[in-house]
Amino acid sequence: MATIDVNLQAVKGRIARAAAAAGRDCAAVTLLAVSKTHPAPLVAQAVRAGQLAFGENYVQEALQKMDALAALLGEGSPGLEWHLIGPLQSNKTRVVAERFQWVQTVDREKIARRLSEQRPTELAPLDVLLQVNVSGEATKSGLDPRDVSALARVVAPLPRLRLRGLMAIPEPGDDAGLQRERFRAVRELFERLRSEGLALDTLSMGMSEDLEAAVAEGATMVRIGTAIFGLRERGEDGGVAGGLKRERAAT
Ligand SMILES: *Cc1c(COP(=O)(O)O)cnc(C)c1O
Repeated sequence: MATIDVNLQAVKGRIARAAAAAGRDCAAVTLLAVSKTHPAPLVAQAVRAGQLAFGENYVQEALQKMDALAALLGEGSPGLEWHLIGPLQSNKTRVVAERFQWVQTVDREKIARRLSEQRPTELAPLDVLLQVNVSGEATKSGLDPRDVSALARVVAPLPRLRLRGLMAIPEPGDDAGLQRERFRAVRELFERLRSEGLALDTLSMGMSEDLEAAVAEGATMVRIGTAIFGLRERGEDGGVAGGLKRERAAT
């Protein structure tokens, strides 16, 4: 029962130490708990420990979990913030625009336009991040860094979206220097867009194994699954990067 609470505190400690080492304020780094593949009762434990922002990769799984959690937590429970961090197909945009608060994986104009058109008017604009592919061949999703500025210019004015920044999933690896370099490249792109006049405030990068490197390079949001909820079952993994990591570990 207490495990999730202990894990959350441990992750917050890691963020605080990484921020301090980089001379940054730890309040400038938001923790997104990645709950994919984990059941609603476990997520409810995290909510009771004070965690309110969650990331999910699969739309269907997320919707079921949102409903299950509403039932588990009951009325008067704090509002949760749901982030889609997995790929989004155009036939799922409507339900995502209706049920999520953030989409971190926008990498096509068509998806962005649909999300804006389908975001219900009674809700606040949908917060979105553009996903950047900084690992080239290793992953299919995400924009080529050279195309980010052009898409940002299209997405920023869409009326029912709020473009908040960038998200990246560098391929996992043991080379700490290379990890830092990849995160730095995303941060530099982020800074460039800001200097071009876009009001961006969110740089989502860093997972259980590399959050220190990401915080050192300026992440404002880290997405943490394993270090909070434990290992995911093999084969159920909704995460491109998590899957990659385990495949590598097995070879
Ligand atoms: C699964 C996943 C995470 C969390 O990974 P952990 O290594 O379990 O912390 C973060 N971001 C994305 C996009 C994921 O798919």
